[in-house]
Amino acid sequence: MDPLKALADAERKPYWLDSPAKPEPLARLFGETSADLAVVGGGFSGLWTALMAKERDPSLDVVLLEGRRIGWAASGRNGGFAMATLTHGIANGLERWPEEISTLERLGVDNLDEIGEAVAAYDIDCGYERTGELHVATEPWQLEEMNRNVGVARDLGARFDVLDGEQMRAEVNSPTYIGGHWERDGCAMLDPARLAWGLRQACLSLGVRIYERTPVRTMRDTPTSLDLITPHGSVRARRVALGTGVFQPLLRRLKHFLVPVYDYALMTEPLSDEQLASVGWHNRQGVGDAANQFHYYRLTEDNRILWGGYDAVYYNGGMIKPEYEQRDETFVKLAEHFSTTFPQLAGLRFTHRWGGVIDTCSRFSAFYGQSHGGRVAYAAGYTGMGVGATRFGANVMLDLLAGERTERTELRMVKEKPVPFPPEPVRSAGIQMTRWSIAQADLHQGRRNLWLRTLDRMGLGFDS
Ligand SMILES: Cc1cc2nc3c(=O)[nH]c(=O)nc-3n(C[C@H](O)[C@H](O)[C@H](O)COP(=O)(O)OP(=O)(O)OC[C@H]3O[C@@H](n4cnc5c(N)ncnc54)[C@H](O)[C@@H]3O)c2cc1C
Repeated sequence: MDPLKALADAERKPYWLDSPAKPEPLARLFGETSADLAVVGGGFSGLWTALMAKERDPSLDVVLLEGRRIGWAASGRNGGFAMATLTHGIANGLERWPEEISTLERLGVDNLDEIGEAVAAYDIDCGYERTGELHVATEPWQLEEMNRNVGVARDLGARFDVLDGEQMRAEVNSPTYIGGHWERDGCAMLDPARLAWGLRQACLSLGVRIYERTPVRTMRDTPTSLDLITPHGSVRARRVALGTGVFQPLLRRLKHFLVPVYDYALMTEPLSDEQLASVGWHNRQGVGDAANQFHYYRLTEDNRILWGGYDAVYYNGGMIKPEYEQRDETFVKLAEHFSTTFPQLAGLRFTHRWGGVIDTCSRFSAFYGQSHGGRVAYAAGYTGMGVGATRFGANVMLDLLAGERTERTELRMVKEKPVPFPPEPVRSAGIQMTRWSIAQADLHQGRRNLWLRTLDRMGLGFDS
């Protein structure tokens, strides 16, 4: 089908947020209040932090301040792949923290297990399915690269099935597949907006006070407290946790480590039984292909296909703007790639198209830290893999704020910071050069040019 026709009726909004399950907004903050812990940001980072703070100490007075609506940003509009990895994949972790990788993998699997337990304990209806992920190769060089780390992953306890082309197509039927892996435990599929709203409800049930449409404009340090100033009020807090993602940070130092990268996705209408049978997909895994510019895709509970990725767009100057959430050039490209992958679904239409902004840092996985004499903690830089890892980051923030030395806080990964991005205009030029080089590598059997090899040597990169 002509991609323009397939897209013709697609609404320009995130599918997950366009749901009857969306709760009514909570009140804004009017006036002054105080708290033992103030959490800024109502995405997964902030929600898990507030929830687990109350779990650790029910007597703690916790306030959460969200500038717009709970889960409106990345947390409510992503692919819904909750991954075990804390390091943006094993290869990245192995390269950066080889001596810690077995601990990091174990902590990541524990974290994902605990997400499943929390979903069950708070009865969060978010379509949680621990299906694992298929990593598919469509070119021989991708298969070679993928196979490089299978041994290490298995040594670390991961259940990796290596599938040839036929076995892969028996899982999900695409003529483009030549083989790959099924990582069985490393990933769960879920509806991210319903997870965010479920966490909001869980926080409220434990007594967290949540204020929506309450942006924090500034944070003032006083001898006795940290004062968070909002448009109509303020919070006098003993401790502050920042889960503000990629948005204008309240701590200037974070600016140097984060760049906003836009990622885009489409959602199809539900597949008929016949259409679904033509694809197989009985085990309902998440799927990601192994190109540098990769696609990620999955089934929803009602058997739609979410199809996203490929373009990771940095707009020069690093601005965040609502109009960047729509990019027709990318939507058409994604629709074309969809029909190449699933030619048997010709005629299937898309119902939603949207984009969202990702907090990208140069090491691709989150960084953590403290300021104001240890009274403020932050975690950011999840680089497109924060659905699971934000819960780990929330635990790190709570450990740091409590002044506790834990297995988490002693990790080199937690203690070290990423290499900062250079200031503009060098930043934009460097990122666009990197994007171009990545596209070239995909066209030339994965061969990395001098620019990418230099960045690799410096431990620097760009990803979504
Ligand atoms: C299209 C897309 C697809 C993705 N797919 C996946 C995926 O499949 N798997 C995966 O693991 N990750 C994925 N990600 C990434 C994942 O969504 C994020 O890593 C994760 O949601 C980050 O959560 P967060 O709470 O840190 O940030 P956010 O969800 O961005 O939340 C930050 C919140 O802080 C609020 N805020 C900021 N500043 C202030 C302030 N001063 N005062 C008050 N509130 C403030 C914002 O309004 C926002 O609600 C994807 C992202 C996108 C955009």
